[in-house]
Amino acid sequence: MVCLGRFMGGKSKVLPETTYRVKLHCPEGQPIGIFMAGHPQVEGLVVVKLQKSEVVGRWNAQNPEVPLEVGHVILEINGLTDSEKMLEQFAPGRTVDILVNVVMNAQHNRILSHCLRKQRLAAAVETLLHPVDNSSENDDDAVETSGPPVCAICQEDMKVKTCCKKSEVVSLECKHRFHCQCVKQWLVNGQLRCPLCNHQLQLRTDTD
Ligand SMILES: [Zn+2]
Ligand SMILES: [Zn+2]
Repeated sequence: MVCLGRFMGGKSKVLPETTYRVKLHCPEGQPIGIFMAGHPQVEGLVVVKLQKSEVVGRWNAQNPEVPLEVGHVILEINGLTDSEKMLEQFAPGRTVDILVNVVMNAQHNRILSHCLRKQRLAAAVETLLHPVDNSSENDDDAVETSGPPVCAICQEDMKVKTCCKKSEVVSLECKHRFHCQCVKQWLVNGQLRCPLCNHQLQLRTDTD
């Protein structure tokens, strides 16, 4: 089922020696777990995160000489080089033929370090969020509000929106509640305070 991708493709284009092909089959009903980032003026997409997915894990175990790793540059997927079109190839049940370059240029490096910084911040922000049991009638900790609970960031009902798996509504230290995704985005974008009461939040980062 898995082929050694190096010999696939059959294109006449001369590729640098640092490139090879990775062939993966996108699973049905679960994400493939490859996170990529790019820039309109930069060729290729940089692999910025790999989830412990079975697909990538199996490929890397069976093809240790041509693995897919964070920091690799994806130049082509199924022969396509346009970022958006490349990403569309990751559809359930489809096979993706990925042309990988293991060497990043300075621009790729900048994209990667920017994303890694964001990932570290996102992980640190997680520690500021407290899950709220939405179905609970016993809201002793809740801040008194009038009317139905509305997320102050998106102004939408907090009972309808579903976002993250853990809990769709989270509270901050000050007990104010928001949609998990809304407040995460707010905090990751550098606003380290409660959007409602300006309560300052302390991030614990172990960056250096
Ligand atoms: Zn919201
Ligand atoms: Zn607050």
